[in-house]
Amino acid sequence: MENIEKKPIVKFKVITIFPDFFKPMLEYGVFSRAYKKGLISFETIDLRDFTNDNYKSVDDEPYGGGSGMVFKPVPLGKAIKKAKSKKETKVVYLTPSGRVFNSDIAKELAKEEELVFICGRYEGIDQRIVDLYVDYEVSIGDYVISGGEPAAMVVIDAIARHVEGVVKEMESVVKDSFYDGLLDYPHYTRPETYNGRKVPEVLLSGDHKRIELWREKMKLVETLTKRPDLLEKAKLTQTQKKLLTEIKEQLRKLT
Ligand code: SAM
Repeated sequence: MENIEKKPIVKFKVITIFPDFFKPMLEYGVFSRAYKKGLISFETIDLRDFTNDNYKSVDDEPYGGGSGMVFKPVPLGKAIKKAKSKKETKVVYLTPSGRVFNSDIAKELAKEEELVFICGRYEGIDQRIVDLYVDYEVSIGDYVISGGEPAAMVVIDAIARHVEGVVKEMESVVKDSFYDGLLDYPHYTRPETYNGRKVPEVLLSGDHKRIELWREKMKLVETLTKRPDLLEKAKLTQTQKKLLTEIKEQLRKLT
């Protein structure tokens, strides 16, 4: 649990042209509960409030020609300055060109007191905004979606889970996939038999030591079979290394 951030409040501020996009986040589930309890703060900043023409236009044609529109730097620059309550506040731009988001970045960002997110639309934002104000360029994966809002939701939710109290039981965050570099073990609930398939016997045994060992082993099996790339980076304990050797040996015998 040593990596869980102790600060009670992280302020999330999101610059967007669609503030209503985020309303469901504040109404449902874990994030909403934490928001209502004041464990995190969340605010949208409407980019259009920083325009000064009758049409409240936030975008313009790209220099050099070509298709699509680009967010203009002037309103966006003003919005960022308004959003940052301190010079040190980190600014995150959601973009396909960014570092692919993961649990380590979530843990790192959960240490901040305030984070400003920029949701792009169209072809994206003027590069000078990135050069001048952005601290983190973050992508949610190697594909393109139509706007930064769904990406911001994903990233903000994942960061919030690392803030103490947001998830009721911190133990479940620590045991989640990726926290220790491995995938989660499989979960089962009632009934004991479903469509002819029984819950693994060990889970009914009441023997907590055996159950722990089974879960540890299954995390390795899941990771080895579904995401072997993670094992190259994971910092395995001696027990995990030993278990992994056994698992590989068993799999080798089966093939
Ligand atoms: N022209 C951009 C490109 O090819 O990289 C794509 C722009 S996309 C249509 C519009 C906005 O959606 C981006 O500015 C960004 O904020 C957001 N976006 C799209 N895909 C994303 C991804 N994989 N991760 C994070 N944000 C993304």
